[in-house]
Amino acid sequence: MREIQNAYGGRKVASTSGRTAPVFNPATGEQVATVPLSSAEEVSAAVAAAREAAEAWGRTPPMKRARFMFAFKQLVEAHADDIARAISLEHGKTHPDALGEVQRGLEVIEFACGIPHLLKGEFSRNVGPDIDSWSDRQPLGVVAGITPFNFPAMVPMWMYPVAVACGNTFVLKPSERDPGAVMLVYDLFEKAGFPKGVLNVVHGDKVAVDTLLTHPDVKAVSFVGSTPIAEYVYATGTRHGKRVQALGGAKNHMIVMPDADIDKAVDALMGAGYGSAGERCMAVSVAVPVGEATANKLVEALKPKVQALKIGPSTDADAEMGPVVTRQHQQKVLGYIDQGVKEGAELLVDGRGFSLQGYEDGYFVGGTLFDRVTPEMTIYREEIFGPVLSVLRAPSYDYAVDLINRHEYGNGTAIFTRDGDAARAFADRIEVGMVGINVPIPVPVAYHSFGGWKRSLFGDHSIYGPEGVRFYTRLKTVTSRWPEGIKSGAVFTFPTL
Ligand code: NAD
Repeated sequence: MREIQNAYGGRKVASTSGRTAPVFNPATGEQVATVPLSSAEEVSAAVAAAREAAEAWGRTPPMKRARFMFAFKQLVEAHADDIARAISLEHGKTHPDALGEVQRGLEVIEFACGIPHLLKGEFSRNVGPDIDSWSDRQPLGVVAGITPFNFPAMVPMWMYPVAVACGNTFVLKPSERDPGAVMLVYDLFEKAGFPKGVLNVVHGDKVAVDTLLTHPDVKAVSFVGSTPIAEYVYATGTRHGKRVQALGGAKNHMIVMPDADIDKAVDALMGAGYGSAGERCMAVSVAVPVGEATANKLVEALKPKVQALKIGPSTDADAEMGPVVTRQHQQKVLGYIDQGVKEGAELLVDGRGFSLQGYEDGYFVGGTLFDRVTPEMTIYREEIFGPVLSVLRAPSYDYAVDLINRHEYGNGTAIFTRDGDAARAFADRIEVGMVGINVPIPVPVAYHSFGGWKRSLFGDHSIYGPEGVRFYTRLKTVTSRWPEGIKSGAVFTFPTL
């Protein structure tokens, strides 16, 4: 059995906490690894390693830091296939989907390669007689990241490349459900030549997270995961004086206007609803057709496609989606389908009985489609995080917009239409952080920033891109006068420049 280790101060360290968790292959139900659940002392040792490296790393010229990042980028590129396979083994997503995840992570590394330019400050000459003023952004020191299972390589890459390029050292606590890919990438990071202690990885659960949230040497925490934990992380971290960005769950709606190209809308819903078995924070889980005629056309075209979904293990090149991540999560998703039926939604495609020959112990859930879902139903209000798409029929465009604005989550949303005026008004009025116009999963590119609104993000900063640079640095402004101005003697009035 593969035993996953912690890694800090440039060394792999076997945990002695005595607590471990099993890691499964979701396609077969077999255990493939054991991950340590580190003690507070082990997490503190990782923080100490990061602290030891922080001073010298923070003083390393940004151009030099960027050169390490270029080397890392090349290694990740060269090993993308291996990383994708490691993701699929423990997560279950298809190989092309895992490759897509690596590519989107890689783009953040590419962004971080431009750090000298991103850290350039502002300068004002002669803010007063012979007085100059400049502002620049300096690293925080040791920063930490806590990440979810659904993008085991990409979400950590949303964090540490930017943090490290800004001159911080990093302690990563990955998801305990699929920690394998992170370790593969960690080895590449070390191979790129970064000094020891710049990136450190500790595995674990609440004990590890709580240690990071309360440790006086951790200056900032980036979190991505479910909303209840995001809220807890934000409250606890900020109470302990840390800067925190905590990204949470989602319920993403896609409005289909009467003038939309229905075939394109259906394809978009299939990919965004069922890709990665619905385990994406930007998955579309609610389709909102406007008007009965649109709804009827949409449902008629969707139903056979959901029935025909190709479901299989990641080793099946034809598979369009894989299993969900754990047995426990499979049971939770099946429970939501039961609940939808009980509350009166119309179950058009039932994924509950799905079984795959040869993979009977895998955590599969068949593609599921509900029609006539209402805003009061549990399957509408809560995040299911599985291959379950709800159709909620809206009588009008205004009703659809109000529906989205009233939802507690505000991560992503989309509108499908041919009408520029409707699209523009939608982008303007909608209370959601990331908006797609005829684009179903509008994940911002690496040089913009990613973040939801409302209970999808706690904190003031979105993640990666320019917002990431701001999050991982603090502003310093220097006002400077040189001796000539002192010749006239001391000044006792309040300086007005
Ligand atoms: P999760 O909240 O269960 O776990 C996330 C992290 O928190 C893990 O590292 C885990 O070990 C830790 N954790 C879990 N319970 C904890 C506790 N009680 N105290 C302290 N730490 C704890 O999330 P998940 O199931 O791994 O991931 C799925 C969720 O993440 C979904 O809700 C999804 O929408 C969300 N997500 C959001 C985004 C985004 O950008 N907004 C991106 C990806 C995933």
